[in-house]
Amino acid sequence: MQDTEGLVASPGPEPDRVRLGTPVDGVHVLASLSPSRAADFRTCPLLFRFRTVDRLPEAPSPEALRGTVVHKVLEDLFDLPALERTPGRAEDMVQAAWELVLDAEPEAALMFSGDGPDIVEWLASCRESLRSYFDLEDPRRLEPAEREVYVEALLDSRLLLRGFVDRIDVAPDGAIRVVDYKSGSSPGVGFEARALFQMRFYALVIWRTRGVVPKLLQLIYLGDGQVIGYEPDEDDLRATERLVEAVWRAIELARATGDWQPNRGYVCRWCSFQDICPEFGNEPPPLPAVEPERDLPLVEISGATPVPPDLPA
Ligand code: SF4
Repeated sequence: MQDTEGLVASPGPEPDRVRLGTPVDGVHVLASLSPSRAADFRTCPLLFRFRTVDRLPEAPSPEALRGTVVHKVLEDLFDLPALERTPGRAEDMVQAAWELVLDAEPEAALMFSGDGPDIVEWLASCRESLRSYFDLEDPRRLEPAEREVYVEALLDSRLLLRGFVDRIDVAPDGAIRVVDYKSGSSPGVGFEARALFQMRFYALVIWRTRGVVPKLLQLIYLGDGQVIGYEPDEDDLRATERLVEAVWRAIELARATGDWQPNRGYVCRWCSFQDICPEFGNEPPPLPAVEPERDLPLVEISGATPVPPDLPA
């Protein structure tokens, strides 16, 4: 899952900046944070800067696009009567999902021109991901309570947490399962905690807004057919809240000082910004001047147009 915004901060009591906050139930929100942008900052502050402060465009990748198409099919699949949720029916839905993506982003077609991947093979890879899904779950036996649901929670610090959850299942006894689909492969041993950060973030939001700690957080990796599950408890979610607020403070500090440190690591392999990254011998562009008008759309709340979901990893 994916989103375009990250965090907009009002770093101090200076009136013009506070004015940028958006009221939520009468409270002024000073900043909003999605799990993907928080993860960006934890991975590499400079990456966060390029995406969220500079808002530099990034070319979509075939992998990210496949995730978008597969997510769309998995969302729409549950609109069908239960018995029609078959692998064949899901594969038939790929073309329509791809056309919807093209309607929204006609430039996506350019990815398959010239030296780009073959569109037929790429569409086949979308269908393959869906076949993996059916090896892991039988959607005929599931009735999700919510799909692609926008969630948000305002912390006492007036930090607004928000994002899109792929699927929420609710058992007859009220137990909640939060499910996220990943079109890529599962993380290696030792990297599960980082992968689960996003899910703990959503669990925290659900706990804060619904008063129920989700029973199970589940990441479904279609790339290698693995499922990672985790049962959070209140202590976990309190720790997540402290972590998220610490990330927020670190972002605030970077914004205030203009010091966005690069952090070279495995993510660099997929980073669009190597040609402006000092870790690769290049010079970042100057920081943009702060433009309040530019900040405002980043603070969105219920009733406002939600940001699109993250492109799946
Ligand atoms: S290339 Fe690596 S170090 Fe540079 S901005 Fe991207 S993720 Fe950060």
